[in-house]
Amino acid sequence: MTTISMLINGERRQAAGGASFERRNPLDGEVATRAPAASPADAIAAVEAAHAAFAAWSQTGPGERRALLLKAAHALEARTDAFVQAMARETGASAMWAGFNVHLAAGILTEAAALTTQISGEVIPSDVPGSLAMGVRQAAGVVLGIAPWNAPVILATRAIATPLACGNTVVLKGSELCPETHALIIDALNEAGLPPGVVNFVTNAPTDAGAVVEAMVAHPAVRRVNFTGSTRVGRIIAQTCAKYLKPVVLELGGKAPLVVLDDADVDAAVNAAAFGAFANSGQICMSTERIVVDAAIADEFVAKFAAKAKSLPVGDPREGPVVLGSVVDASTVTRCNALIDDALAKGARLVCGGRAESTLMPATVLDHVTSDMLIYREESFGPVKAVVRVDGVEQAIATANDNEFGLSSAVFGRDVARAWNVARRIEAGICHVNGPTVHDEAQMPFGGVKASGYGRFGGKAGVEAFTELRWITVQTTPRHYPF
Ligand code: NAD
Repeated sequence: MTTISMLINGERRQAAGGASFERRNPLDGEVATRAPAASPADAIAAVEAAHAAFAAWSQTGPGERRALLLKAAHALEARTDAFVQAMARETGASAMWAGFNVHLAAGILTEAAALTTQISGEVIPSDVPGSLAMGVRQAAGVVLGIAPWNAPVILATRAIATPLACGNTVVLKGSELCPETHALIIDALNEAGLPPGVVNFVTNAPTDAGAVVEAMVAHPAVRRVNFTGSTRVGRIIAQTCAKYLKPVVLELGGKAPLVVLDDADVDAAVNAAAFGAFANSGQICMSTERIVVDAAIADEFVAKFAAKAKSLPVGDPREGPVVLGSVVDASTVTRCNALIDDALAKGARLVCGGRAESTLMPATVLDHVTSDMLIYREESFGPVKAVVRVDGVEQAIATANDNEFGLSSAVFGRDVARAWNVARRIEAGICHVNGPTVHDEAQMPFGGVKASGYGRFGGKAGVEAFTELRWITVQTTPRHYPF
């Protein structure tokens, strides 16, 4: 078991009063981590430390911020083994997924380092003679980042890297399900030498999340919030942010469709579908959840997809390499089993996998899924996937859009112009033609539409989200007034 600390004003701290909570391993129930259970007062101390550090940090030159973020990227990568072990203990994740998390998170810090010289503005023609008018981007203030457990290194790093690059100071609220994994990111940033108070870290017991988050959102120094997590909690965060008029980026749930048109390269589509559906046991916001296949090629697709899914190894990630490790908790098993039972009772066909008895869940594929089945609409957030058969392009598009979510999507077809036109009509923030739904790069505009949230992380879109755009003028000649 590991005991971790929060980081407030550069100091490692327990909660005032010593309260703590435990995270247990999903497979054997052993205590993985003991973490501080912050009170709202502890969380406010973190915001105030960030506020105190803002004046100096926001005035540092881009070269200084860039050098520190690059050091942090190296410090993060140097902890790869620790991340692999912490993720296996806390969330049951495979070493492959943990390694990818660290690799992409280091890329996010490297990209943030590059963005430090891209926080620019423009000169705007003014109708007032002699007025030099500018739109200027500058740091907003304290940014509160709230990240989940499922891609823990990527999503917590994303919550704070671009904000820091823009000259903001940050508070990261860690996930109750992976406090050690999130603490390792903070260790890397701290080791890189960020000044005290620039990065702060708070952990809370699950029952205190609402009070701790509201205390921070309400604090006047907090000027931006970002939240990655479920749509259910995202709605609560949106309401809290509305109450205090705080702009928020919301990256929420998904139900990504992968559309396989009748002219698709079936083998390529199968490989993309298997990767997108079963990486991290389907616990990714971009996971392929609905495979919308043209009936003309559906038999061939399903046979090959099932063969691939059956071949994927499942097991305890602490004992060796696997593709599907443990899912995060027993409630995932219960939810996925219920989705399977409901679909089979309504006429779906099980082509591989099936009900699970433990958190080691096999890759499961249900064919002939129809719109009356729960799995057609609801996020499984597990390795249970639906194949929906359709006739033609119009029905494929309508089926892909027949969902409340709209984060990622994909279209497979050899006629790339036709596939592109399908991609244009899919209601999702992200669409890949002839690529998997699971695809993330630090410099890309990442985010969803509909119930998947609003706002964008990544590259220049991230700079827009985490800076204030100000209008500043300089009157260079005497100004004429009407009176
Ligand atoms: P979750 O919403 O349960 O929890 C996320 C965070 O919300 C935690 O830090 C938790 O402390 C906090 N929280 C919980 N209750 C709260 C409350 N009442 N007030 C304020 N904060 C509260 O999400 P999860 O189960 O950890 O993550 C899985 C979900 O995240 C899935 O739906 C998945 O699709 C989504 N997700 C989205 C993206 C994306 O980029 N769109 C990425 C990864 C995961």
